[in-house]
Amino acid sequence: MKISDIIASKEITVSLEIFPPKQGTELEHSRKLVAEMAKLSPDFISVTYGAAGTTARFTAELADEVERCGIASLAHVTCVSTDEEVLDNYLASLKANGIENILALRGDMPDGREPKKVYTHASDLATAIKQKGDFCIGGACYPEGHPEATSVSADIDALKIKAESGCEFFTTQMFFDNDIMYSFLSKFQRKGINIPVIAGIMPITNARQLGRSVALSGTTVPRRFREIVERFGDKPLAMRQAGIAFATEQIIDLIANGVNNIHIYAMNKPDVAAEILSNISEIRK
Ligand code: FAD
Repeated sequence: MKISDIIASKEITVSLEIFPPKQGTELEHSRKLVAEMAKLSPDFISVTYGAAGTTARFTAELADEVERCGIASLAHVTCVSTDEEVLDNYLASLKANGIENILALRGDMPDGREPKKVYTHASDLATAIKQKGDFCIGGACYPEGHPEATSVSADIDALKIKAESGCEFFTTQMFFDNDIMYSFLSKFQRKGINIPVIAGIMPITNARQLGRSVALSGTTVPRRFREIVERFGDKPLAMRQAGIAFATEQIIDLIANGVNNIHIYAMNKPDVAAEILSNISEIRK
Protein backbone atom coordinates (compact mmCIF):
# COMPACT_ATOMS: atom_id res chain seq x y z
CA MET A 1 0.00 0.00 0.00
CA LYS A 2 1.21 3.52 -0.74
CA ILE A 3 2.28 5.56 2.28
CA SER A 4 0.35 8.58 0.97
CA ASP A 5 -2.83 6.43 1.17
CA ILE A 6 -1.96 5.10 4.63
CA ILE A 7 -1.46 8.65 5.95
CA ALA A 8 -4.66 9.87 4.29
CA SER A 9 -6.71 7.04 5.76
CA LYS A 10 -5.55 7.11 9.40
CA GLU A 11 -5.58 9.79 12.06
CA ILE A 12 -2.31 8.64 13.64
CA THR A 13 0.46 6.58 12.04
CA VAL A 14 3.54 5.09 13.66
CA SER A 15 6.28 3.58 11.52
CA LEU A 16 9.61 1.90 12.28
CA GLU A 17 13.02 1.83 10.63
CA ILE A 18 15.49 -0.99 10.15
CA PHE A 19 18.94 -0.95 8.57
CA PRO A 20 20.24 -3.80 6.39
CA PRO A 21 23.22 -5.97 7.30
CA LYS A 22 26.66 -5.38 5.82
CA GLN A 23 27.04 -9.04 4.87
CA GLY A 24 24.74 -11.65 3.37
CA THR A 25 25.53 -14.03 6.23
CA GLU A 26 23.63 -11.68 8.58
CA LEU A 27 20.56 -11.47 6.34
CA GLU A 28 18.74 -14.26 8.15
CA HIS A 29 19.08 -12.40 11.46
CA SER A 30 17.78 -9.20 9.81
CA ARG A 31 14.77 -11.11 8.50
CA LYS A 32 14.00 -12.19 12.08
CA LEU A 33 14.22 -8.55 13.20
CA VAL A 34 11.73 -7.62 10.47
CA ALA A 35 9.35 -10.34 11.66
CA GLU A 36 9.61 -9.07 15.26
CA MET A 37 8.98 -5.49 14.17
CA ALA A 38 6.07 -6.54 11.97
CA LYS A 39 4.39 -8.16 14.99
CA LEU A 40 4.16 -4.68 16.52
CA SER A 41 1.78 -3.67 13.68
CA PRO A 42 3.53 -0.49 12.56
CA ASP A 43 1.91 1.40 9.69
CA PHE A 44 5.02 0.81 7.61
CA ILE A 45 8.65 -0.21 8.02
CA SER A 46 11.42 1.65 6.24
CA VAL A 47 14.68 -0.01 5.22
CA THR A 48 17.76 2.19 4.91
CA TYR A 49 20.30 2.12 2.08
CA GLY A 50 24.00 1.65 2.92
CA ALA A 51 25.92 4.85 2.24
CA ALA A 52 28.18 3.34 -0.41
CA GLY A 53 25.35 1.41 -2.07
CA THR A 54 27.05 -1.93 -1.50
CA THR A 55 24.09 -3.28 0.46
CA ALA A 56 21.36 -2.20 -1.99
CA ARG A 57 20.43 -5.83 -2.62
CA PHE A 58 19.84 -6.34 1.10
CA THR A 59 17.65 -3.22 1.28
CA ALA A 60 15.46 -4.63 -1.49
CA GLU A 61 15.41 -8.09 0.11
CA LEU A 62 14.45 -6.77 3.54
CA ALA A 63 11.77 -4.51 2.06
CA ASP A 64 10.41 -7.64 0.37
CA GLU A 65 10.46 -9.44 3.74
CA VAL A 66 8.51 -6.54 5.30
CA GLU A 67 5.83 -6.93 2.60
CA ARG A 68 5.73 -10.70 3.14
CA CYS A 69 4.91 -9.97 6.80
CA GLY A 70 1.87 -8.00 5.61
CA ILE A 71 3.29 -4.54 6.36
CA ALA A 72 3.91 -1.77 3.80
CA SER A 73 7.61 -1.14 3.22
CA LEU A 74 9.57 1.99 2.35
CA ALA A 75 12.86 1.25 0.54
CA HIS A 76 15.52 3.99 0.71
CA VAL A 77 17.86 4.86 -2.16
CA THR A 78 20.65 7.47 -2.49
CA CYS A 79 22.04 9.60 -5.33
CA VAL A 80 25.67 9.14 -4.31
CA SER A 81 25.76 5.47 -5.18
CA THR A 82 23.23 5.41 -8.01
CA ASP A 83 23.47 5.89 -11.75
CA GLU A 84 20.72 5.19 -14.26
CA GLU A 85 21.54 1.50 -14.63
CA VAL A 86 21.73 0.93 -10.85
CA LEU A 87 18.44 2.80 -10.41
CA ASP A 88 16.69 0.85 -13.17
CA ASN A 89 17.77 -2.48 -11.66
CA TYR A 90 16.79 -1.40 -8.16
CA LEU A 91 13.36 -0.15 -9.23
CA ALA A 92 12.78 -3.34 -11.23
CA SER A 93 13.53 -5.50 -8.17
CA LEU A 94 11.22 -3.38 -5.99
CA LYS A 95 8.45 -3.47 -8.58
CA ALA A 96 8.77 -7.25 -8.98
CA ASN A 97 8.14 -7.64 -5.25
CA GLY A 98 5.21 -5.25 -5.09
CA ILE A 99 7.10 -2.55 -3.17
CA GLU A 100 5.39 0.79 -3.81
CA ASN A 101 7.26 3.27 -1.59
CA ILE A 102 10.73 4.78 -1.99
CA LEU A 103 12.59 7.35 0.10
CA ALA A 104 14.75 9.37 -2.32
CA LEU A 105 17.91 10.71 -0.66
CA ARG A 106 21.14 12.32 -1.70
CA GLY A 107 23.23 10.36 0.81
CA ASP A 108 26.74 11.19 2.00
CA MET A 109 29.65 9.30 0.48
CA PRO A 110 31.75 7.78 3.26
CA ASP A 111 35.54 8.16 3.53
CA GLY A 112 35.73 10.94 0.93
CA ARG A 113 35.10 8.42 -1.86
CA GLU A 114 33.85 9.79 -5.18
CA PRO A 115 30.06 9.79 -5.50
CA LYS A 116 28.30 8.90 -8.73
CA LYS A 117 27.28 12.16 -10.31
CA VAL A 118 24.19 11.37 -12.36
CA TYR A 119 21.77 12.61 -9.69
CA THR A 120 23.00 15.59 -7.64
CA HIS A 121 20.12 16.20 -5.29
CA ALA A 122 17.35 14.04 -3.90
CA SER A 123 14.99 16.10 -6.07
CA ASP A 124 16.81 14.85 -9.22
CA LEU A 125 16.40 11.28 -8.02
CA ALA A 126 12.71 11.85 -7.24
CA THR A 127 12.16 13.23 -10.76
CA ALA A 128 13.83 10.17 -12.29
CA ILE A 129 11.89 7.70 -10.12
CA LYS A 130 8.62 9.45 -10.96
CA GLN A 131 9.36 9.01 -14.67
CA LYS A 132 10.24 5.35 -14.26
CA GLY A 133 7.27 4.00 -12.34
CA ASP A 134 4.22 4.47 -10.20
CA PHE A 135 5.94 4.76 -6.81
CA CYS A 136 4.98 6.84 -3.80
CA ILE A 137 8.14 8.86 -3.20
CA GLY A 138 9.23 10.44 0.06
CA GLY A 139 12.15 12.67 0.98
CA ALA A 140 14.14 13.78 4.03
CA CYS A 141 13.77 17.09 5.83
CA TYR A 142 15.64 18.73 8.68
CA PRO A 143 13.86 20.69 11.45
CA GLU A 144 17.18 22.38 12.31
CA GLY A 145 18.13 22.84 8.64
CA HIS A 146 20.41 20.51 6.69
CA PRO A 147 24.02 21.04 7.86
CA GLU A 148 25.06 22.30 4.40
CA ALA A 149 22.15 24.75 4.03
CA THR A 150 22.80 28.44 4.65
CA SER A 151 19.59 28.76 6.69
CA VAL A 152 16.46 26.82 7.62
CA SER A 153 14.56 29.06 5.20
CA ALA A 154 16.93 28.24 2.27
CA ASP A 155 16.64 24.57 3.16
CA ILE A 156 12.83 24.79 3.06
CA ASP A 157 13.08 26.39 -0.41
CA ALA A 158 14.96 23.24 -1.44
CA LEU A 159 12.18 21.13 0.12
CA LYS A 160 9.70 22.94 -2.10
CA ILE A 161 11.72 21.82 -5.14
CA LYS A 162 11.72 18.28 -3.73
CA ALA A 163 7.94 18.33 -3.32
CA GLU A 164 7.50 19.69 -6.86
CA SER A 165 9.78 16.90 -8.11
CA GLY A 166 7.35 14.26 -6.88
CA CYS A 167 7.90 13.75 -3.14
CA GLU A 168 4.56 13.08 -1.48
CA PHE A 169 5.77 13.15 2.14
CA PHE A 170 8.86 14.06 4.14
CA THR A 171 10.40 12.28 7.11
CA THR A 172 12.41 14.46 9.47
CA GLN A 173 15.90 14.01 10.75
CA MET A 174 15.81 13.12 14.45
CA PHE A 175 15.30 15.96 16.90
CA PHE A 176 15.14 16.02 20.70
CA ASP A 177 13.40 19.35 21.20
CA ASN A 178 9.80 19.42 19.95
CA ASP A 179 9.74 23.23 19.90
CA ILE A 180 12.31 23.10 17.08
CA MET A 181 9.92 20.86 15.14
CA TYR A 182 6.92 23.16 15.73
CA SER A 183 8.91 26.20 14.58
CA PHE A 184 10.07 24.29 11.46
CA LEU A 185 6.50 23.19 10.65
CA SER A 186 5.14 26.71 10.81
CA LYS A 187 7.89 27.96 8.43
CA PHE A 188 7.30 24.96 6.16
CA GLN A 189 3.56 25.67 5.98
CA ARG A 190 4.14 29.39 5.40
CA LYS A 191 6.10 28.46 2.24
CA GLY A 192 2.93 26.80 0.98
CA ILE A 193 4.19 23.22 1.00
CA ASN A 194 1.22 20.98 1.58
CA ILE A 195 2.57 17.49 2.03
CA PRO A 196 2.66 15.48 5.27
CA VAL A 197 5.75 15.66 7.47
CA ILE A 198 6.51 12.53 9.47
CA ALA A 199 8.36 13.25 12.73
CA GLY A 200 11.50 11.11 13.11
CA ILE A 201 12.14 10.11 16.73
CA MET A 202 15.36 8.41 17.79
CA PRO A 203 15.14 6.62 21.14
CA ILE A 204 18.59 7.00 22.70
CA THR A 205 19.11 3.95 24.88
CA ASN A 206 22.85 4.19 25.47
CA ALA A 207 25.19 7.13 25.88
CA ARG A 208 27.54 6.06 23.07
CA GLN A 209 24.65 6.10 20.59
CA LEU A 210 23.94 9.74 21.46
CA GLY A 211 27.53 10.81 20.73
CA ARG A 212 27.54 8.99 17.37
CA SER A 213 24.10 10.14 16.22
CA VAL A 214 24.63 13.76 17.18
CA ALA A 215 28.08 13.90 15.61
CA LEU A 216 26.62 12.64 12.31
CA SER A 217 23.51 14.81 12.24
CA GLY A 218 24.43 17.96 14.17
CA THR A 219 21.15 17.65 16.13
CA THR A 220 20.79 19.89 19.19
CA VAL A 221 20.68 18.03 22.49
CA PRO A 222 18.58 20.00 24.99
CA ARG A 223 19.83 20.45 28.57
CA ARG A 224 17.00 18.24 29.85
CA PHE A 225 18.26 15.29 27.82
CA ARG A 226 21.97 15.97 28.47
CA GLU A 227 21.25 15.72 32.21
CA ILE A 228 19.59 12.34 31.69
CA VAL A 229 22.65 11.05 29.85
CA GLU A 230 25.02 12.49 32.44
CA ARG A 231 23.09 10.88 35.30
CA PHE A 232 22.27 7.49 33.75
CA GLY A 233 24.78 7.12 30.87
CA ASP A 234 26.96 4.63 32.74
CA LYS A 235 24.00 2.53 33.98
CA PRO A 236 22.85 0.61 30.88
CA LEU A 237 19.43 -0.48 32.13
CA ALA A 238 18.61 2.92 33.66
CA MET A 239 19.74 4.69 30.45
CA ARG A 240 17.60 2.36 28.34
CA GLN A 241 14.56 3.06 30.52
CA ALA A 242 15.17 6.82 30.53
CA GLY A 243 15.72 6.88 26.74
CA ILE A 244 12.46 5.04 26.12
CA ALA A 245 10.61 7.36 28.52
CA PHE A 246 12.08 10.46 26.82
CA ALA A 247 11.12 9.24 23.32
CA THR A 248 7.63 8.29 24.57
CA GLU A 249 7.13 11.74 26.08
CA GLN A 250 8.31 13.40 22.87
CA ILE A 251 5.83 11.35 20.83
CA ILE A 252 2.89 12.04 23.18
CA ASP A 253 3.62 15.78 23.07
CA LEU A 254 3.86 15.70 19.25
CA ILE A 255 0.55 13.88 18.86
CA ALA A 256 -1.11 16.18 21.42
CA ASN A 257 0.01 19.08 19.23
CA GLY A 258 -1.36 17.57 16.03
CA VAL A 259 1.82 15.99 14.65
CA ASN A 260 0.11 12.70 13.91
CA ASN A 261 2.69 10.83 11.85
CA ILE A 262 5.59 9.42 13.84
CA HIS A 263 8.60 7.45 12.58
CA ILE A 264 10.71 5.65 15.18
CA TYR A 265 14.38 5.18 14.30
CA ALA A 266 14.27 1.77 15.91
CA MET A 267 17.98 1.03 15.22
CA ASN A 268 17.27 -2.70 14.76
CA LYS A 269 15.96 -2.93 18.34
CA PRO A 270 12.42 -4.35 18.20
CA ASP A 271 12.37 -4.59 22.02
CA VAL A 272 12.80 -0.80 22.33
CA ALA A 273 10.17 -0.16 19.65
CA ALA A 274 7.82 -2.57 21.44
CA GLU A 275 8.07 -0.69 24.74
CA ILE A 276 7.43 2.68 23.10
CA LEU A 277 4.45 1.33 21.16
CA SER A 278 3.08 -0.25 24.32
CA ASN A 279 3.42 3.13 26.10
CA ILE A 280 1.24 4.77 23.44
CA SER A 281 -1.12 1.87 22.72
CA GLU A 282 -4.29 3.72 23.78
CA ILE A 283 -3.14 6.94 22.10
CA ARG A 284 -2.67 5.10 18.80
CA LYS A 285 -6.20 3.66 18.82
P1 FAD B 1 19.13 16.83 -0.60
O1 FAD B 1 17.68 16.96 -0.57
O2 FAD B 1 19.79 16.71 -1.92
O3 FAD B 1 19.73 18.11 0.20
C1 FAD B 1 21.12 18.24 0.45
C2 FAD B 1 21.48 19.73 0.52
O4 FAD B 1 21.27 20.35 -0.75
C3 FAD B 1 20.62 20.53 1.51
O5 FAD B 1 21.46 21.50 2.10
C4 FAD B 1 19.55 21.19 0.65
O6 FAD B 1 19.14 22.43 1.20
C5 FAD B 1 20.25 21.37 -0.68
N1 FAD B 1 19.38 21.14 -1.83
C6 FAD B 1 18.46 20.15 -1.97
N2 FAD B 1 17.87 20.19 -3.17
C7 FAD B 1 18.42 21.24 -3.82
C8 FAD B 1 18.24 21.76 -5.11
N3 FAD B 1 17.36 21.23 -5.97
N4 FAD B 1 18.99 22.86 -5.48
C9 FAD B 1 19.88 23.38 -4.60
N5 FAD B 1 20.10 22.91 -3.35
C10 FAD B 1 19.39 21.84 -2.97
N6 FAD B 1 21.62 8.36 4.14
C11 FAD B 1 21.96 7.18 3.57
O7 FAD B 1 23.08 7.02 3.07
N7 FAD B 1 21.06 6.13 3.53
C12 FAD B 1 19.81 6.21 4.03
O8 FAD B 1 19.04 5.25 3.98
C13 FAD B 1 19.42 7.45 4.66
N8 FAD B 1 18.16 7.62 5.16
C14 FAD B 1 17.79 8.84 5.68
C15 FAD B 1 16.48 9.01 6.13
C16 FAD B 1 16.07 10.23 6.67
C17 FAD B 1 14.65 10.40 7.15
C18 FAD B 1 17.01 11.31 6.79
C19 FAD B 1 16.60 12.62 7.41
C20 FAD B 1 18.32 11.14 6.32
C21 FAD B 1 18.72 9.92 5.75
N9 FAD B 1 20.02 9.74 5.25
C22 FAD B 1 20.38 8.53 4.68
C23 FAD B 1 21.01 10.82 5.33
C24 FAD B 1 20.97 11.76 4.09
O9 FAD B 1 21.38 11.06 2.96
C25 FAD B 1 21.91 12.94 4.36
O10 FAD B 1 21.37 13.73 5.42
C26 FAD B 1 22.31 13.82 3.20
O11 FAD B 1 23.32 14.73 3.65
C27 FAD B 1 21.22 14.68 2.61
O12 FAD B 1 20.27 13.97 1.96
P2 FAD B 1 18.95 14.67 1.35
O13 FAD B 1 18.22 13.62 0.67
O14 FAD B 1 18.29 15.48 2.38
O15 FAD B 1 19.68 15.65 0.28
